[in-house]
Amino acid sequence: MQYKELVEVYEKLGGTTKRLEKRDILAKFLPLLLKEDARFVYLLHGKVTADYDNREFGISKQLVMKGLAQTFGKTFEKIEALFATQGDLGEITEKLVEKRTQKGLFSKSLTTAYLFTQLESILGLSGKGSVERKLGVVEGLLGQASALEAKYIVRTLLGDLRIGVQGAVLVDAIAQAWYPDESEVIALVQESYDLTTDFAGVLHAAARGKAALRKMVLHPNKPLQVMLPVKVTDLAEAFEICGKPAALEHKYDGFRMVLMRDEKGEIRLFTRKLESVTHQFPDVVQVMQKTLGNTTYILDAEVVGHDPKTGKTKPFEAISQRIRRKHHIEELVKQLPVVVNVFDVLYYKGEGVTELPFVERRKLLEKIIPVHKEIHPSEQIVTDDLAVAERFYKKALALGEEGIMIKKLDAPYRPGRRVGYMVKLKPLVADLDVVIVGAETGTGKRGGWLTSYVVACKEGAHYKELGMVSSGLKEKEEEGMTYEAMTKLLKPLITHTEGNMVRVKPQLVVSITYQNIQPSPRYTSGFGLRFPRILHYRPDRKPHDIATLDEIKALVKKQHASGGFGLQ
Ligand code: ATP
Repeated sequence: MQYKELVEVYEKLGGTTKRLEKRDILAKFLPLLLKEDARFVYLLHGKVTADYDNREFGISKQLVMKGLAQTFGKTFEKIEALFATQGDLGEITEKLVEKRTQKGLFSKSLTTAYLFTQLESILGLSGKGSVERKLGVVEGLLGQASALEAKYIVRTLLGDLRIGVQGAVLVDAIAQAWYPDESEVIALVQESYDLTTDFAGVLHAAARGKAALRKMVLHPNKPLQVMLPVKVTDLAEAFEICGKPAALEHKYDGFRMVLMRDEKGEIRLFTRKLESVTHQFPDVVQVMQKTLGNTTYILDAEVVGHDPKTGKTKPFEAISQRIRRKHHIEELVKQLPVVVNVFDVLYYKGEGVTELPFVERRKLLEKIIPVHKEIHPSEQIVTDDLAVAERFYKKALALGEEGIMIKKLDAPYRPGRRVGYMVKLKPLVADLDVVIVGAETGTGKRGGWLTSYVVACKEGAHYKELGMVSSGLKEKEEEGMTYEAMTKLLKPLITHTEGNMVRVKPQLVVSITYQNIQPSPRYTSGFGLRFPRILHYRPDRKPHDIATLDEIKALVKKQHASGGFGLQ
């Protein structure tokens, strides 16, 4: 398959926002793609690996700009200036290649297979010589590409294809391609993807038949899309959705981790976003080896930071570095120990158990997970009594947990879905006025705009950072304050630029909402906001009107005392 053919499909997909049209474009194309190599389907997501494989190209905009400068004989500054005004390196590349083509310098044609292997060759490369190797691949590919192909090569390298093909459209398209008149197959395709997170495998199975799709099962060496909760506002609603009695569990404030051991004894750990974190958590691997025996399993869990001195849970912020850290892991393991709260079992002794009702899975879980100080079953009660549930909720908040999860006892586990088999209940949020002191440039369709904002409170004449906020503004003017409008307000205030980040004069006040405030060494205030969101731009307020650090400290105290905000 010529890369040109794939690029034509990209163009068609990018040219429509209508989901059905996208589905039909893909449905026509997928059988052709499968004839050549099912793995090319990954390219529709700008990848050359299945979704469970998180190795990246590791190519920054800076590197692409360097590659462009070298390939087209321009200065880096010239390319940087083009980027500053146009914001899309894909389109900039397209124009550069067009000029070259006009000079008659372009000839070769690129196959998808060649592009695929070239991209594969730079996956996960790091260390000495890797930058040169990556640059070599970028230059090599751009040297052979047509203008349009070059645009998509650059967009692929930067992880920003802009063709709007989410997983759900691809699922619809696969069903449409092989089973156009059987709408129930959509769910089957979705399920086989959620269990395997590999569209190439799903394509093969879909072409073979429905039985093959049904046979796609969990395997304890691949992560899966985890089941997600629906949000409720009170316990009555929770019981309405989950039925009575229901299971209630603490909503631990850590990060989700899927733990698995395959038949070869290999233990793997994945986050909810399918990132492998086995390397970062040798302590968890060790405790699994020690306590869980030599069989195959997949467990769903929440890993939380633990303070051995106080015996209390540490806020998520404090242990988030454990996911990011790649070196000197052992040191960090000692500084920031974790506890694994296991709340579900999905595979055990060679068999998937996702179809078992939750109450049965929980029984199995209690049988296989010991109550150990580093790993244990999640705290749970089963009740149909609202008053008992209320007490459990308040106790969880008083212990500093985020809220509770309520789970339906007779429900199976549905990977990848936000179905009402479990629901979450968290306290209402509060709001705060803060000033913007910095910002970060966005990517994708927000490229060129400042889309994440560093916000701060004040302490005397100084501003103290509380974190980054990137949600809450709108895409369209009629819906409210847009990122574009905010960028226009901020640009004249820029005092310093470094990479994607700018510092700005503290002038713009915004009201934000957040879930809670946590101690955080990352920000100069010593606190960080969890889940901040901009509610309004406040042109009516001045920086001296914003929250003070003392007020923040008082809010944190109050949070502790009441076990959270808005507790009903
Ligand atoms: P957000 O989705 O806004 O990022 P979040 O990451 O906490 O917030 P939610 O959808 O609010 O996600 O809550 C679901 C998450 O709660 C799960 O993905 C899991 O990480 C976590 N969790 C903590 N305790 C439990 C539990 N006992 N059972 C299931 N999930 C739990």
